[in-house]
Amino acid sequence: MEYMERAYDDAKYGHFSRKPYIDMVIPSVTDPSVAPPGKHVLSCFVQYAPYKLAQGNWDDHKEAFGDNVINTIAEYAPNIKDIIIGRQVLTPLDLEREFGLTQGNIFQGELSLEQLFFLRPVAGWAYYRTPIRNLYMCGSATHPGGGIMGANGRIASQVILKEWKFSRSRARATNTDESHASASKAAN
Ligand SMILES: Cc1cc2nc3c(=O)[nH]c(=O)nc-3n(C[C@H](O)[C@H](O)[C@H](O)COP(=O)(O)OP(=O)(O)OC[C@H]3O[C@@H](n4cnc5c(N)ncnc54)[C@H](O)[C@@H]3O)c2cc1C
Repeated sequence: MEYMERAYDDAKYGHFSRKPYIDMVIPSVTDPSVAPPGKHVLSCFVQYAPYKLAQGNWDDHKEAFGDNVINTIAEYAPNIKDIIIGRQVLTPLDLEREFGLTQGNIFQGELSLEQLFFLRPVAGWAYYRTPIRNLYMCGSATHPGGGIMGANGRIASQVILKEWKFSRSRARATNTDESHASASKAAN
């Protein structure tokens, strides 16, 4: 906990963590097709990296950020530097530019109190609806936020079905009213 707290302290003041908290996975263990034979892919999810740096910009600091991660891993796996063939560093700015994640936030918007429940993603656009008629939203930007796989999509589909059934029964009622009206007109 203390390690994480210290890592966050750097980010609070606009610097990437000097001693980051690193979440590592090796996807090539379960899917060898993602790497050449006998080689592996190591994916590092790194915290913390603020979107706004106190000094300079991410394009200038990107490689230093990557070096910092590798140096941290090297404290536990000393041969890591010698066995790396290639690497890709994705900063918060890259996540925004390449994947449209605003400010590189992996949850498509911070899970802070003013952006939860009926205020997610923003006030007036909650409940999976958008300002465009019949266009609905799901994914992390909607309630209940990120990290809960599938829940948002499931609730969104329930909202769509409910509203579709409602509009269908309203259309039926309108049709019935119209046919009653024309029937009584014909009778008169
Ligand atoms: C780099 C990165 C690292 C992450 N790491 C972690 C982690 O370590 N732990 C964790 O818990 N979470 C992590 N997350 C977050 C996690 O991946 C998401 O919160 C999670 O995938 C959200 O799941 P979801 O089912 O709500 O939405 P998604 O997985 O986004 O699925 C939504 C789907 O709906 C589709 N869709 C959207 N709109 C429409 C529409 N109108 N019509 C039809 N289809 C539509 C989209 O194409 C998408 O396939 C990470 C995210 C990123 C980007």
